[in-house]
Amino acid sequence: MTQIPGGFAALGLHPNVLAAVSAVGYEEPSPIQEQAIPVILAGHDMIGQAQTGTGKTAAFATPILSKIDPTRREPQALILAPTRELALQVATAFETYAKQMPGLNVVAVYGGAPMGPQLAAIRKGAQVIVATPGRLVDHLSRNNQVLSTIRFLVLDEADEMLKLGFMDDLEVIFEAMPAERQSVLFSATLPASIRGIAGKHLREPKHIKIANKTQTVEAIQQAFLMVHADQKIAAVSRLLEVEDFDALIAFVRTKQATLDLASALEARGYKVAALNGDIAQNQRERVIESLKDKRLDIVVATDVAARGLDVPRITHVLNVDMPYDPESYVHRIGRTGRAGREGRALLLVTPRERRMLQSVERVTGQKIAEIRLPDAKQVLDARIKKLTNSLAPLVADAESTHGDLLDRLVADIGCSPRALAAALLRKATNGQSLTLAEVEREQPLVPNASGPRERNERSSRSTSGSSDSRPPRAPMPLTEGRARCRTALGTRDGIAAKNLLGAILNEGGLSREAIGRIQIREAFSLVELPEEGLDRLLAKLKDTRVAGKALKLRRYRED
Ligand code: ADP
Ligand code: MG
Repeated sequence: MTQIPGGFAALGLHPNVLAAVSAVGYEEPSPIQEQAIPVILAGHDMIGQAQTGTGKTAAFATPILSKIDPTRREPQALILAPTRELALQVATAFETYAKQMPGLNVVAVYGGAPMGPQLAAIRKGAQVIVATPGRLVDHLSRNNQVLSTIRFLVLDEADEMLKLGFMDDLEVIFEAMPAERQSVLFSATLPASIRGIAGKHLREPKHIKIANKTQTVEAIQQAFLMVHADQKIAAVSRLLEVEDFDALIAFVRTKQATLDLASALEARGYKVAALNGDIAQNQRERVIESLKDKRLDIVVATDVAARGLDVPRITHVLNVDMPYDPESYVHRIGRTGRAGREGRALLLVTPRERRMLQSVERVTGQKIAEIRLPDAKQVLDARIKKLTNSLAPLVADAESTHGDLLDRLVADIGCSPRALAAALLRKATNGQSLTLAEVEREQPLVPNASGPRERNERSSRSTSGSSDSRPPRAPMPLTEGRARCRTALGTRDGIAAKNLLGAILNEGGLSREAIGRIQIREAFSLVELPEEGLDRLLAKLKDTRVAGKALKLRRYRED
């Protein structure tokens, strides 16, 4: 016998609906559910104002199902949603809440799919129609009686529907329904256009407002990272190493960026897909399904392509590119922390985007904490922790299944068990860097984009032209306590920043933080090193070779 959730039981829902809600595992109604369900059950028209992720679907689906007569095989409830994805989501939710209602059928009506099966389902007596306005109008133009038996109407995400230009279609649909009906409208915002519709088509609606902009954000831990635009992919790769995520959605601004980031992450072994406006509808649905059933863990999407994407597994929203306005930021991060679950939102900010960050903080009423790029030690620790977590469960019985084989291999090879275990580890980790020195060598050159430094400084100069053999004329101001050093090795010697960095870290015994900016030119390179103990360090590096050539690092003085 399943426990009936206490909060829900008091709301007056039909027992069959209640049983289904409890089977889904909901424990308490959300605030909008608590307020809207009794109002809708009582037969009032209603305007509900609430943000994404507040549980609006169940707020209207459960009372409407409680009032539908499943023995009458005709359309009784019409739900209008702005997009195909949302329509499908709402239809699925209705089916879930109607699990214990034999004879109740739901049909989703949307564009991009053949009309035939949709019509057939309506004719067969589906009681609930969930539709996008455009396609529903197409149906009406063939048969204007489709909606003649509707008793309940829901406009879900009404503001989105108007933004998508469905105003005229809505008027056609209103005309095709009996005036005697109950109408409910949900919207995150109530601009004049929505008030207009409500004034014209709703009857003395009760107004419910969940002022939970901040509440929605509260369940979400937010942080930002300053980074240069051209280092975003490197920064994301490193962040993902230390972030403990189940599923993650990354937002970028362009189609190309979805592809670039997705392929960079795929190359690092993540199960990732890109989602953008060019991707065919059915492919998009497949991506969302894959994210749900864990065949994918990361989706890189544009705002448009991610509209209505609701996957409870999403623990992280990563804003790789800033949204265009604070509202879209709130909308984006609403993909995580669904219905009160903990979520984490990360935001990459380039130096010139500081102001946008401030307005996001104003709108959400929260200060967003700054985080730093994880250093090599943190990356290493995270990798070892993952390795530990993947091996620990095997230890319990691996000896009984593979112990004899181990003994035999040790004997055949003639090595110690430790040597064999190490060999197996090397094989299992497949070339991954698992020592501090190795991880440090992977790190990109500029650790953090703190301060107002302009990025063209680097990008215009570091692409060395052939005449670029003299030091930059206005070098970057040095950080206090650092000295600039020079080597005669440069790109023509096959040197990249990571080689230089690796050599200094290894031979000099410095930590990554101790090393500042590195500039590689054609015929020389500059690197910032700690002033303190510099002479000793240079002596230590006296015989260091990089790419087969003597490094000969010297203190460099501008004159
Ligand atoms: P909205 O339409 O307001 O954006 P949804 O109706 O899509 O929100 O619900 C968001 C998520 O919260 C869904 O995954 C849904 O299953 C879940 N949910 C809704 N109500 C509850 C509840 N009372 N308890 C737990 N989870 C809920
Ligand atoms: Mg919704």
